[in-house]
Amino acid sequence: MDKDKITLTIAKQKNIALIAHDSKKRELIQWCEDNKDILKQHFLCGTGTTARMITEVTGLPVRGYNSGPLGGDQQIGAKIVEGRVDFVIFFSDPLAAQPHDPDVKALLRIAQVYDIPIANNKATADFLITSKYMNEEYSHDVLNFQRNIEMRAKTL
Ligand code: PGA
Repeated sequence: MDKDKITLTIAKQKNIALIAHDSKKRELIQWCEDNKDILKQHFLCGTGTTARMITEVTGLPVRGYNSGPLGGDQQIGAKIVEGRVDFVIFFSDPLAAQPHDPDVKALLRIAQVYDIPIANNKATADFLITSKYMNEEYSHDVLNFQRNIEMRAKTL
């Protein structure tokens, strides 16, 4: 067994984070409405404004964190690190500069580090939500962070 990796499991019932930049909010809300029957089987959270608007329009319960520019993306990134968010739908705006661009990049990076499924446009979100893994557990290997600390503490 490769000690540098650890096997983690994304449960059948997923912890899904929903985020949309302002110009993409209507698109994400419509996507949630279209996929409501699937989404209601999972735990939902999101950045503040996105979460509130999704709940208002679709009735889906979405736990809201801070607004993105006020640290919401970072809160979701921290939940990924803690294993409390394991799936992200993030409709980002490729055509507008964001004041919190470093936070957005940090979230994308940490999702990559923890091998978290993350969609940044509707087509990817459609492929993810119709994946067979939505109805199953999914095991994946991620870096063994405990081991990583041990090795670094010994060798640095
Ligand atoms: P919001 O944040 O849902 O509070 O608008 C989203 C973002 O801009 O990252």
